[in-house]
Amino acid sequence: MIPRRRIPLAIADLREWILAPWLRGRAADDVARFESAFAERFGVKHAIAVASGRDALGLIVDGLGLRPGDEVIFPAYTLGELVPFLQARGLKLLAADVDPTTYNMTVDSVLKAWNPNVRAIIAVHLLGAPCDIAGLSQLAESRGIPLIEDCAHAAGATVGGRPLGSFGTAALFSLESNKALCAFGGGMLTTRSEAVATYARQQLATRARVEWPAMKKMAIKYLEELGVRSPLYGPLARFLFAGGRAGRFEQAYRRSNDRRRAPVAFSGLQARLAMRRLQAMDERHRRLDALWQQLAAALPDGFLPQQRNVVGVPVFYNFVARFSGDIRLLRQRALDAGLDLGIGSEVMDDCAALLGQADCPGAATVYRQAVLLPLYDGMTRRQLSKVLARLSGIVPPGLAGG
Ligand SMILES: *Cc1c(COP(=O)(O)O)cnc(C)c1O
Repeated sequence: MIPRRRIPLAIADLREWILAPWLRGRAADDVARFESAFAERFGVKHAIAVASGRDALGLIVDGLGLRPGDEVIFPAYTLGELVPFLQARGLKLLAADVDPTTYNMTVDSVLKAWNPNVRAIIAVHLLGAPCDIAGLSQLAESRGIPLIEDCAHAAGATVGGRPLGSFGTAALFSLESNKALCAFGGGMLTTRSEAVATYARQQLATRARVEWPAMKKMAIKYLEELGVRSPLYGPLARFLFAGGRAGRFEQAYRRSNDRRRAPVAFSGLQARLAMRRLQAMDERHRRLDALWQQLAAALPDGFLPQQRNVVGVPVFYNFVARFSGDIRLLRQRALDAGLDLGIGSEVMDDCAALLGQADCPGAATVYRQAVLLPLYDGMTRRQLSKVLARLSGIVPPGLAGG
């Protein structure tokens, strides 16, 4: 079975893991060093290491002084768990539809969702493709409200040569194992607002700096990854991802990850891992971008890859294309052929539907047709050819539209 994603395993990571308890004393220094390097790399005034992307978002929302009842414009197609997360703060989310080719919201769709009670805009650069962040930033400025940039997928992407994360009033990055900068958990909050930075630093000062939660999480991810690479993965994927079980498995998996996203301080181990990833980030993006182009160029009929470079220079997050045929049938055939694809909520969620809004046809289309194809760091040409061969085996020319 060719898995959807793989995490690169490295001896250097294991060394960091083993040394972590002994390097506890320099954790605060290592975190501060990583924060400075991050601020410089992304051209932002403040970069603050936090427990997760979500933690950053919560601190931003509270630091900006958003209150229960405030209305916030939110992307119609993004990570669904952010909806209850923000609703738990009493915010009223208004979905802005996405362009069905880029999967990103636009200035027009934000204006359509607009009303005078809107107090903030949250924009995401979906799957590493920059949204029209310059246009959105102008819009937010002209209305006198903050713009929050979700860069969870887009660390390293640029618009007009400027790094994403430097446009918004504040931005969030995720350092989860499946994101561009993997520290096996953790997140970054960046901002030019002194109020947000001060608020976040105050909140973080009360948290204990401990190494064990990050060590435990990394150990679990390594074991998971060894499982994905073992011969048992094939039968397991066929069982878990068949029919109705897939959705339930996805929910359970996300919940189990949530339990390991406790609001602790960023650890020294995470800072040292993230620092190394930051230095290697551009090179990683180049490798993955080349793979992305190869896969996009050779796809069988019926697939329309995401348009990623309409506004700026994208980075890799996942390879996603819309498929015009029956995606459930495609997935079943793929599993039978030893190819692990993601569909539906395994890609991203229709947040408009989650919010009970029926006026976002772009998000509905993308949600219904999105297929995530295997593409990951360390994938060889041979593996890529295998993906393509298996794919054309299950999608005969001309049948896709059926
Ligand atoms: C992963 C993700 C986040 C949150 O990051 P965590 O570190 O998992 O909390 C936010 N937005 C998007 C679009 C994401 O995919």
